[in-house]
Amino acid sequence: MNYQSTRSRTGKATSAQAISQGLCGDGGLFVPEQFPAVGEEELALMENESYRQRAARILSRYLTDFTVEEVRECVELAYRPDRFPEGPAPVFQLDQNVSYLELWHGPTCAFKDMALQILPLLLTRSLKKIRSDREALILVATSGDTGKAALEGFQDVEGTRILVFYPKDGVSPMQERQMRTQSGGNVFVCAVEGNFDDTQTGVKRIFGDAEMRELLAKKGMMFSSANSINWGRLLPQIVYYFSAYCDLCAGHSVQRGAPVNFIVPTGNFGDILAAYYAKKMGLPVHKLICASNANNVLTEFLTMGKYNRNREFYTTISPSMDILVSSNLERLLYDLTDQNDEKVADWMRRLNETGEYQVDEAVLSKIRELFYAGFCSDDETREEIKSLFANQNYLCDPHTGVAARVYEKYLRDTGDSKTPAVIVSTASPYKFAPEVLRALEDHAPAGDEFQAVSRLSQLTATRVPAPIAALESKTVRFSSSCKKEEMGAAVLKILDSESV
Ligand SMILES: *Cc1c(COP(=O)(O)O)cnc(C)c1O
Repeated sequence: MNYQSTRSRTGKATSAQAISQGLCGDGGLFVPEQFPAVGEEELALMENESYRQRAARILSRYLTDFTVEEVRECVELAYRPDRFPEGPAPVFQLDQNVSYLELWHGPTCAFKDMALQILPLLLTRSLKKIRSDREALILVATSGDTGKAALEGFQDVEGTRILVFYPKDGVSPMQERQMRTQSGGNVFVCAVEGNFDDTQTGVKRIFGDAEMRELLAKKGMMFSSANSINWGRLLPQIVYYFSAYCDLCAGHSVQRGAPVNFIVPTGNFGDILAAYYAKKMGLPVHKLICASNANNVLTEFLTMGKYNRNREFYTTISPSMDILVSSNLERLLYDLTDQNDEKVADWMRRLNETGEYQVDEAVLSKIRELFYAGFCSDDETREEIKSLFANQNYLCDPHTGVAARVYEKYLRDTGDSKTPAVIVSTASPYKFAPEVLRALEDHAPAGDEFQAVSRLSQLTATRVPAPIAALESKTVRFSSSCKKEEMGAAVLKILDSESV
C-alpha cells in the first residue's frame, strides 16, 4: 500500500516514509491510495477478538511494509494491560439505544493516548526502515492534552528524545502538573512566556531553521513531529470504531450488519475522520455526527459548504476543541472530490490567503449524506453534564458533554431514535474536575485542583483514576521557562545533555 499527497501527484510514499516524514513536501497530507475492505464475515470473526488482535488486523492492512510480527509487537506493547487496566476502549452501555465509547483509560486519561501510545513505536520502526540511523528529536507545542500524552508515549523509547513547549499561562494547573512531573530519561519540558500561538510559531520556526537542522545532523539527530496530521496518529484511531461495533454486536445490543451513529466531539477533525475511514472500509455507519463547541466553524461548513476561519475565537470549557482550522478536514475533501488534488490544493491556498473557501454542490451533497453537524454553548454543556449525572448516573467530561448535547439536538431534528448511538467519550471527567464540579453544583468550587478531584469523587461516588491520584505526590522535575525568542536555545541545550 502506498501513500500520496492530498495536494499533488508527486512523491508516492511507503507507510514508513509517510510516518517518518509527517507532512508531504508540498504541504499536503499523506493519504492511503486505497481503503482495504472489511466484510461482514470478517466483522463477525472480530467479535471474538481482543482489542489488540483487532488493532493488529486493521493496522497490518495499511502498514504493508511492516511484517505482521512487527505490527503485532507494536500493538502488544502499546496497549499493554498495565497501561490500559480497563482495556483500551471499553464501551459503556447507558441504555438500550445509547452507549459511550470511553477512550480515556490510558496513562494520561485522554483519548490522545490511543494514538500516542503506539506512534513512537511505529515511528522508530519506520525510521529504521528508511535506513535512518539518526536519533529523532520530537518537538511538540501543546495547549494541553497532546503534550502529556506525547511525553508519556515517548518516555524512554530508544532512539528518541522529546521536548514539549507549552504556554506558561495557557494550560490548566492539572495539565501543567502532569507535564512537569513526567518521568523518563529522554523527556524535556519547557514553559514559554507567551500564548499558544507564540509557542506553536516558535516550534514551526525551529523546524524550518536550516542552521538548526545542520547542527542536529552533526550530532546524529533529526527533527520529527508527533502532530495530529501524521498518518501514524490517525491510523490507530480507525481501530476503536471497529472495536466498539464488534463489542456491541457481541453483546447483542446491535444486530450484525445494522448501522449505528457515531457522535464525535471534534477539534482538528482527526477522530471523526477515522470514523469516516472505518465506514469507507465497510463498517455499518448511518450518520457521523460532528459535535462542536462555540467555535462552530465545522458546523457551518458541514451544513453550508463554506469554511470561514475569519471569526472570533472563543475560549471554552472544552479547550481541546477550541480550534478554527481543522487540519484533517483536507483529507476528507480529497476523498469526496474523488482524489482531486488540484481542487484541494486550491481550497487550501484560499484558506491560507483569505481565510475561507467554498466547496461545490456535489461535495456538499455528499457531506450532507454522511454527516450531521451541531454545536452547543458552555452553559448547554454544563446542563448536559448535570442532567446526565442526575438522571442516568453517568459522569462525563466537558468534551463528551458537548457530544451528548449535540446528539440530543440530532434526535430533535431528525427523530432518528431507532439507530443505535455511540457517543465518543474523549477525556476522564477528573481531568477537568473544577469545571465538572461547577456544572454539578452550579457554582465554581473553592480550593485547588486536587481538592476539586476529591470533592468530585465524594459527590459522585466514582473512583479517581490512578494516574490523577498519583499526581499529587509526584515531584516536579521541570520548572524552567523561557522567552519565546529563547526556544531555539532551549533546543540546543538538550542536544548536549546525556539524560536528565
Ligand atoms: C484532541 C481532543 C478532542 C478533539 O479531537 P480531534 O481529533 O482533534 O477532532 C476532543 N476531546 C479531547 C478531550 C481531546 O483531547
